[in-house]
Amino acid sequence: MSSRVLFKGGRIASAEQSSLAELDVLVNAEGRIEALQSAITPADDMEVIDCQDKVLLPGLFDMHVHLREPGREDEETIESGARAAIQGGFTGIVAMPNTTPPIDSGGMVRFVHTLAREQSPIPIFTAGCITQGRAGKQLAEIADMHQQGAVMITDDGDPVADPYLFRRALEYARHFDLVVACHCEVPELSRGGAMNEGARSYQLGIPGIPACSEEISIARDLRLALDTGTRIHIQHVSTARGMELVRRFKEDGAQVTCEVTPHHLLFSEEDIRDYDTHLKMNPPLRTPQDAEALLEGLKSGLIDALATDHAPHTEFEKNLDFAHAPFGITGLETALVSLYDRLIKPGQLGWDLIVQRFADTPRRLVGQERVSIAEGAQANLVVFDPEGQTHFSREGMQSKSMNTPWLDQALSGAVVGVVLGPNRLMDRITA
Ligand SMILES: [Zn+2]
Repeated sequence: MSSRVLFKGGRIASAEQSSLAELDVLVNAEGRIEALQSAITPADDMEVIDCQDKVLLPGLFDMHVHLREPGREDEETIESGARAAIQGGFTGIVAMPNTTPPIDSGGMVRFVHTLAREQSPIPIFTAGCITQGRAGKQLAEIADMHQQGAVMITDDGDPVADPYLFRRALEYARHFDLVVACHCEVPELSRGGAMNEGARSYQLGIPGIPACSEEISIARDLRLALDTGTRIHIQHVSTARGMELVRRFKEDGAQVTCEVTPHHLLFSEEDIRDYDTHLKMNPPLRTPQDAEALLEGLKSGLIDALATDHAPHTEFEKNLDFAHAPFGITGLETALVSLYDRLIKPGQLGWDLIVQRFADTPRRLVGQERVSIAEGAQANLVVFDPEGQTHFSREGMQSKSMNTPWLDQALSGAVVGVVLGPNRLMDRITA
């Protein structure tokens, strides 16, 4: 039996270089990268895996995932969410706390971590709520959750509407150097809306969510972050102006980072033609000009991270009419392939940028060590086939929910292998 695995002939992506290095990767029985060299000679104790024409990149990390457990196990569980993550090339994720009941105490954080350890082959981290029950009235047990290992706090799904309470949360979080993730909207301005407010929403007769709802909230949170010196992270920024606010406050010295989702880069309100609820999410798809600006922001580094905001919902719920269906789409399984098909393959984005924004930065923001394909490091890598194709079929997907605009579509590129330590969590390399 071979004890070492030689990934031969692949091209290695890294955060530092836009070009891919052709190197063989030798992983020992303990799951460490023993050698990273060109043309390693296979030995008897090595299993050789042909990675010719494949790209090897560090395992991705998604800092914004809704796993729905506890409470909505019909939509997703920790176990199915972990499988979906692996399928998409993620070797670490952060679970949002808007479960039922919400993760707003040390005990709840412990509960999720225990389940995750039992049921997930990849590390699952937890965010805790900012306010008790996400009700926006009283602070949650932030110290307790931090002690139990919560890596961020957020009331994601809702903003903390009360600025006084939010400021106190920031002061508290600073104490633990805990990052505060902000879902930005003004509920009074968004109320009843289902898509971006503008010509398109009038045309379709769907109530709108104005861009200013998000931007006013971003401005408030940034201003309070500047005041308190706390690290804040603006989630799923969707408008050019919202992003420009982040730029201004970064320049002013606020400890702020922000993320964009693949769907806000790849779609716009113009794509909502036949009331397809797979294009309904919050914040909503904005204008094509916003999507373009966000892509520029991602390239320039103004946008620090990519995150999926994986939000599973049942088919029954998503089959409601556009105004009443729930917000959100799944993203774990489609993120990398859709980015490859639409942006990497056409030469708009480089692999180095994917490693920076979808592996390195999100890990750093939640206090996790960087993952790289390097000698001596634990193996933590994804094998991607640029020549392959992924058909997002109901049968093929691992998530319990299928609410993605990519459903039943075939895109270029495929995640064919995921390696974490001594474990090959997915292996379709030779298939
Ligand atoms: Zn959100």
